[in-house]
Amino acid sequence: MKIGILALQGDFREHISVLHRLGIETAEVRLPEDLTGLSGLIIPGGESTTIGKLAVMYNLLEPLREIADGIPIWGPCAGMIFMAKEIDQEQPLLGIMDITVERNAFGRQVDSFKTYLDIPVLNKFNPKPYPAVFIRAPKLAAVRGNGKVIAELKDGTAVAAQQGKWLVTAFHPELTEDDRFHRYFLSLI
Ligand code: GLN
Repeated sequence: MKIGILALQGDFREHISVLHRLGIETAEVRLPEDLTGLSGLIIPGGESTTIGKLAVMYNLLEPLREIADGIPIWGPCAGMIFMAKEIDQEQPLLGIMDITVERNAFGRQVDSFKTYLDIPVLNKFNPKPYPAVFIRAPKLAAVRGNGKVIAELKDGTAVAAQQGKWLVTAFHPELTEDDRFHRYFLSLI
């Protein structure tokens, strides 16, 4: 099994480190031909406007949409914005998931925070609270169709969702030692 990490911009190296710790083979994706033979794809956090522009420049949007139907895809933070069908401004999107996302919903870089969440889908690995790191994070304003919310803040704000084999998280599991989210993603393959 080989997992692709979209490596146009953002913290793709941190995801590669986690997957290597779990003994998983990875491939950095920058061009359409890098998508061959993948069992799953991670679209990392970073700056979604930059990721979108580079994806257009490297002719990746259509090839990504073509493989999206067949494989699990996970977008943390900027990846969640990029995967959404609807966001609060104009920018290039992969636009596959039936979600509405509000960018920078918790304020600026200085308003970044870490909190502990109860995420039921992770409890099969270990039921302890999950450390979630939010950096200029987006939030889920709506989850439609057969998508479902899988994590919320205490005030009810939706911060992670799943639609079939597609996952989005407003937070960054690759920045903590807790690898349960990566293992959950791998379990969808
Ligand atoms: N604020 C960024 C954006 O709008 C996302 C931040 C992140 O990925 N940590 O794309």
